[in-house]
Amino acid sequence: MEDCIFCKIVNGEIPSFKVYEDDTVFAFLDINPLSKGHVLVLSKEHYENILEVPEDTYAHMAKMTKKISDKVQEVYKPEGILVNQNNGKRAGQQIMHIHIHVKPIYKDTMVFSEANHRKKFDDQKMKKIQKELAID
Ligand code: 5GP
Ligand code: ZN
Repeated sequence: MEDCIFCKIVNGEIPSFKVYEDDTVFAFLDINPLSKGHVLVLSKEHYENILEVPEDTYAHMAKMTKKISDKVQEVYKPEGILVNQNNGKRAGQQIMHIHIHVKPIYKDTMVFSEANHRKKFDDQKMKKIQKELAID
């Protein structure tokens, strides 16, 4: 897609530090990493977010995210690995080309948690939501 930074990286128009590529997926170092080994896993095709991307493509992105996470763990031995994927500006998405973040968490890595902002719904509300979201 024109004017998409990540499409330009996939096409080689903008340089990147690539760690993996196949027919479907492209993975490279985040230019502004949270920590050493912060990798972005993209679909080569331009899809904006999880709602647009085909299931098979997303499944392959997830598979390669697992492989890259294993590699990061083997090489850098972080204390944890945060995997996240933002959809929409309000969810923190800045680049509107789907990508999964692999963020190694070391002793000194700042982790921003929403744990203190979680809610508690009563059983009636939980049941209603369960019904609304249940997939056959
Ligand atoms: P988002 O907030 O959309 O989930 O994440 C976008 C990520 O892309 C950010 O972590 C940002 O540092 C990274 N990023 C933005 N522009 C570039 C770029 O030109 N090259 C690389 N390698 N990463 C980028
Ligand atoms: Zn794109």
